[in-house]
Amino acid sequence: MVRFSGKSVYKGITMGSVVLLDKAGCQVKRGKVEDTDTEAARVRVAIEQAKEQLRSLYDKAVKEVGEASAAIFEVHQMMLEDEDYLESIDNIIQTENVNAEYAVAITGDNFAEMFAGMDDDYMRARAADVKDISNRLVNNLYGHEEIDFNAMEPSIIVADDLTPSETVQMDKEKILAFVTVHGSTNSHTAILARMMNIPALVGVPMELDRIHNGMTAVVDGFSAEVIFEPTEELCVKTQKRIREEKEKNLLLQDMKGMETITQGGREIKLYANIGSISDVGYVLENDAAGIGLFRSEFLYLGRSDFPTEEEQFQAYRQVVQTMAGKKVIIRTLDIGADKQTDYFNLGKEDNPALGYRAIRICLKQPDIFKTQLRALLRASVYGNLSIMYPMIISTDEVRKIYDIMREVQQELEEQEIPYTLPEQGIMIETPAAVMISDELAELVDFFSIGTNDLTQYTLAIDRQNERLDDFYNPHHKAVLKMIQMVINNAHKHGKWAGICGELGADIDLTEEFVRMGVDELSVSPSMVLRLRKRIREITL
Ligand code: PEP
Ligand code: MG
Repeated sequence: MVRFSGKSVYKGITMGSVVLLDKAGCQVKRGKVEDTDTEAARVRVAIEQAKEQLRSLYDKAVKEVGEASAAIFEVHQMMLEDEDYLESIDNIIQTENVNAEYAVAITGDNFAEMFAGMDDDYMRARAADVKDISNRLVNNLYGHEEIDFNAMEPSIIVADDLTPSETVQMDKEKILAFVTVHGSTNSHTAILARMMNIPALVGVPMELDRIHNGMTAVVDGFSAEVIFEPTEELCVKTQKRIREEKEKNLLLQDMKGMETITQGGREIKLYANIGSISDVGYVLENDAAGIGLFRSEFLYLGRSDFPTEEEQFQAYRQVVQTMAGKKVIIRTLDIGADKQTDYFNLGKEDNPALGYRAIRICLKQPDIFKTQLRALLRASVYGNLSIMYPMIISTDEVRKIYDIMREVQQELEEQEIPYTLPEQGIMIETPAAVMISDELAELVDFFSIGTNDLTQYTLAIDRQNERLDDFYNPHHKAVLKMIQMVINNAHKHGKWAGICGELGADIDLTEEFVRMGVDELSVSPSMVLRLRKRIREITL
């Protein structure tokens, strides 16, 4: 039995078998070799293996998602035959006397950078593909097995780190828990784990080479511990605790169908946060009154090209239709910082959290923005949709957004495409937006306070930096005063204000938020019933 402590992201308990997500791509080591011919031969074997893998991925994708979406795997097979790419690998091995893994990784980086710098959009998008095939080759060279998530039994995922784009691609039904060596409790990967309602630990100092697939582990989100190869006694105890947790959750089911009102009869809109269409099931299951934050950027992650207007329209339409008239607030693209995807070619920045991200990208690259707005306006016909813009710092930005919105409306009218103009609000997640919230309130329909970023920017603490977790204090007086100021300014102009950051689900602050006058709280679906219970206890 080996026990490690980390930082808990979601309080839950589970037991199951481990799947180790070993990402060779991150840690390719450079090694000197004598026999360069053997290394070159290893590359050829890895390529044949990769082609075989891609052929079966193609066949599977054709059946599941159709020929058009499967075509990417054919493109990858063709790239594996590109002479320049193959020559570069061979050349690095022969001239630098290095191992095959290193030559492939460096070639992948070089080619990706070259594609990223091209003018042509199509070629730029190939940067992600060349990285992808290089990672596949490196994995084959290291002999790492590819995990087939479809065939996998529900398991505990153990990894060095997980990016939001990796997490979002995982089949939620197949994951019992996440345990990672790195990662901050405020990252989007952590938020996704909370949304999935599964125990998750980050910052666990495990030696991954001592952990292997199929090991049994207990993940205890309450004590922030993972225990590998537990004793029989601990297994029995854990089973009992899992049953008790289930029973506690069952008690909360009484809250379903109840109004979210305080003892004095004040109603709070209690909504849920989602990141994908499949999360809508959790929203309905937990009886949220609406969706207060649909992080639409997750539709853009884990793929190699932009989602089309049609793909986005279908996703938004499906969500608003399923919510059947209940409010659905869709936040426009908030990509950047930790939410990275290669085909955007955002490039490396010294301070990505303060960088080219979210609304800044949308205003600078209006074509990307317009595609999303068109999809949103079209989907709005099918239900109660609202749009929300992230990372706002000025009234000027809101005016520019409205200009683009008018162009989009005009285009849709000219093309005789039906649409409705939804309610439009903004996220308040920068101190600048807080300080001018009086002026912003005149321009928009509502505010939703993003406490995750507001804490980061107010306290000057990178929410991604795991070493700063202890300093990241969303209970800081400065943050709470800002929330009060935003609510007051919204009300002064007859607008409503909610909280959609993680702090909205903090039971210790619920009463304080209600006293501040908050109108809405949008939280991860698993927190809805707990929060309803808490609000119903409040006497003002
Ligand atoms: C926030 O910043 O509080 C927020 C809700 O947005 P995100 O966590 O996606 O940045
Ligand atoms: Mg944010």
